[in-house]
Amino acid sequence: MTGYGAALRSQDLKKYKALIAGEQCDASSGETIEMICPSTGMPFATIPRCSAADVGRAVSSAEAALHSQSWVGLSAGERGKCLYRLSELLFEHRDDLAHLEARDTGKPLSQGYGDIDAAIAYFRFYAGAADKITGETLPIDVDYLAMTVREPHGVVASIVPWNYPMQIFARVAGAALAMGNSLVVKPSEDACLSIIETANLALKAGFPAGIINVLTGLGEEAGAALSYNPQIGFITFTGSPDVGTMIQSAAARNHIGCTLELGGKSPQIVFEDADLNKALPVIQDCLLKNGGQTCSAGSRVLVHESRWEEAVDILRSSFRSVVSGQYQDDRDLGPLINASQLRRVNAFCEQAEADEIPLIGEGTIAPDAAREGYYTTAKVYGPVPINHPLAQDEVFGPVLAVIPFRTEEEAVSIANATPYGLVAGVWTKDIARATRVAKAIRSGQVFINTYGAGGGVELPFGGVKKSGHGKEKGFEALKEFSVLKTIVISHA
Ligand code: NAD
Repeated sequence: MTGYGAALRSQDLKKYKALIAGEQCDASSGETIEMICPSTGMPFATIPRCSAADVGRAVSSAEAALHSQSWVGLSAGERGKCLYRLSELLFEHRDDLAHLEARDTGKPLSQGYGDIDAAIAYFRFYAGAADKITGETLPIDVDYLAMTVREPHGVVASIVPWNYPMQIFARVAGAALAMGNSLVVKPSEDACLSIIETANLALKAGFPAGIINVLTGLGEEAGAALSYNPQIGFITFTGSPDVGTMIQSAAARNHIGCTLELGGKSPQIVFEDADLNKALPVIQDCLLKNGGQTCSAGSRVLVHESRWEEAVDILRSSFRSVVSGQYQDDRDLGPLINASQLRRVNAFCEQAEADEIPLIGEGTIAPDAAREGYYTTAKVYGPVPINHPLAQDEVFGPVLAVIPFRTEEEAVSIANATPYGLVAGVWTKDIARATRVAKAIRSGQVFINTYGAGGGVELPFGGVKKSGHGKEKGFEALKEFSVLKTIVISHA
């Protein structure tokens, strides 16, 4: 920030701090980044702009905490108790956190509440799971006892995007801390305030200082320096495929593992026997949640040609009723996260219109939405050619592409014909067909006659192809956030 006006204005903005070694701190440079409220386009807070020097301090603090008696002296069950206490503290602060999350990301308030509740569920799940992960004994020669044990990676670096800060932080921190790792988190510069608040609550929940560090800042500065730091033992990254490629090469340089949770272009296949009145509202809802800025959004609907007109009529009228508005009014859609995301989404729509793809239906923007906010309308297009950007690329906005198909084989082939493979939905009453199709689709999850299943804290999540690799959520995440060691004892 520069200039007298900016300095005056910055006095009104709430100043959030990074968390290093249990201390709230500014960036060593003193520089800050303004946090913009997507509903108004106006700054409302600042965060420290941490640099490589701050990354070094945070990783060293996480490394020291890892070996402190206050952490290694805790049993798995005691780590679980800390996680449970954190879930209770989040519940106590639920209202404040939900408002903060909605203001920071632009999502409608009820979705802010949904995200805090999901975070609470993650911490509760991993609180209970912490002492349920066991090793094995292995039958080798009679004079030996052989066993496997699971150990932490050490310092886990977590790089988080802006779309679901609280949920993604909770699913990473829950599993990583349950397994005894320490954490350095680099949240997104676009939305991260709930993570800062939660990390501070974690100190009250009993996590020793330095076990959770939050480094705010820019991706190409703090994020890049963190990913290359030679002291970290594992990286978990959620974000765009392009940055995912950089993270994987940083991990390769240090010979450590990483999980990449990247984007998606998830198909929803609606067969001729599907119940459209059940399927289409779920499909629409799951797409529009968080303004379509969800990696698992089912943004392509494949509709059997015999149900085309019916499906298009339902979607036309339901999209027309979708209203975008400011977060606190809890409309169907909030604003998008920032101006560049708004330009990106609008560019996809302009391209579709230039290519004369029919616009089936479009929502509206509430008249009281601030002109400076990043609002767009919900739109549904179709028929969309299968090689069109709307059918291939992740729009990350409230835009649905509808694609007709004739046969089951064609539907599977279209579903698999993008670089992504995160989630898929199959809508049919024919269980044999549903099973065949679920097996034929290349993706990390397949839902049949439902989608998302309420977030599914218990369900392993993570894609294939350009959607990334590795699993988060459920018990599988505990395996990702630990290393298997084999120990052999001779008792001859
Ligand atoms: P992004 O990749 O731009 O940023 C994600 C994080 O990476 C941010 O914290 C950012 O600061 C950081 N970053 C940016 N450049 C970096 C660099 N050079 N080195 C290290 N860190 C860097 O993604 P985004 O725009 O914040 O999020 C949108 C993308 O995330 C979409 O593609 C979406 O599909 C994906 N996403 C995936 C999942 C999933 O679980 N699969 C969940 C949410 C979002």
